[in-house]
Amino acid sequence: MSITGNIAKVEERIQKACDLSGRKRDEIILMGVSKFMPLNAVEEAFRAGIEYFGESRVQEGMEKFDSFKKEHPQVSLHMIGSLQRNKAKQASLFFDCIQSADRWQLIEELAKHVPARNKPLEILLELHTGEETKNGFSSLDELYKAAQLTLEKTGLKPAGLMTMAPFTDDTEEIRASFRQLVKAQSELRRRFPVKENWNCLSMGMSNDFETAIEEGSTMLRIGSLIFKD
Ligand SMILES: *Cc1c(COP(=O)(O)O)cnc(C)c1O
Repeated sequence: MSITGNIAKVEERIQKACDLSGRKRDEIILMGVSKFMPLNAVEEAFRAGIEYFGESRVQEGMEKFDSFKKEHPQVSLHMIGSLQRNKAKQASLFFDCIQSADRWQLIEELAKHVPARNKPLEILLELHTGEETKNGFSSLDELYKAAQLTLEKTGLKPAGLMTMAPFTDDTEEIRASFRQLVKAQSELRRRFPVKENWNCLSMGMSNDFETAIEEGSTMLRIGSLIFKD
């Protein structure tokens, strides 16, 4: 099966999940998670309509996307992996969005370098909702502090929230994880009512994206279903 074929299949499943939960397809972005994949795979996915890509390592993302992003300015490249502070400068200059903002110090560090950019750096605050690596803010209080900090920094655009559900077959456990993210979003909107903020809910991967759609995801991060046969 080709990448193009894989995407068509995923699209069909997304549409079906949208129909079942009364959602519109165009309120959900399908991101291709291209980590460990070569540039020609990215190119094929792009030709099949994917414009958002996720990478988990700064160096790999920069090498792969350097000329590709110049050729295709509409492409949005997101950092989705755990980000070391010593890579924050490079990441803040090259990526369009950091989805893995999970520490106060990291946000400070990113903010230091954004003045060199020509547009704001989008930030998704990552909330830990049960996945086993424990990435992400571990409490709502920490999340609120990080949200406050992000709002205070010029050049950072607080775009929303990200989470990874636990890797399990238990759909209810996955659902509970996504619901925590939705609840955090409504709390943030109540506490920090700034138009356009916190709209993105990045949740749902190859094994759980249909549940994520049911629970309100606006961005699916799909790797293996698109790029692996
Ligand atoms: C790898 C990865 C994905 C994609 O996972 P698949 O199960 O291959 O779809 C999504 N989000 C994050 C944060 C990842 O690290």
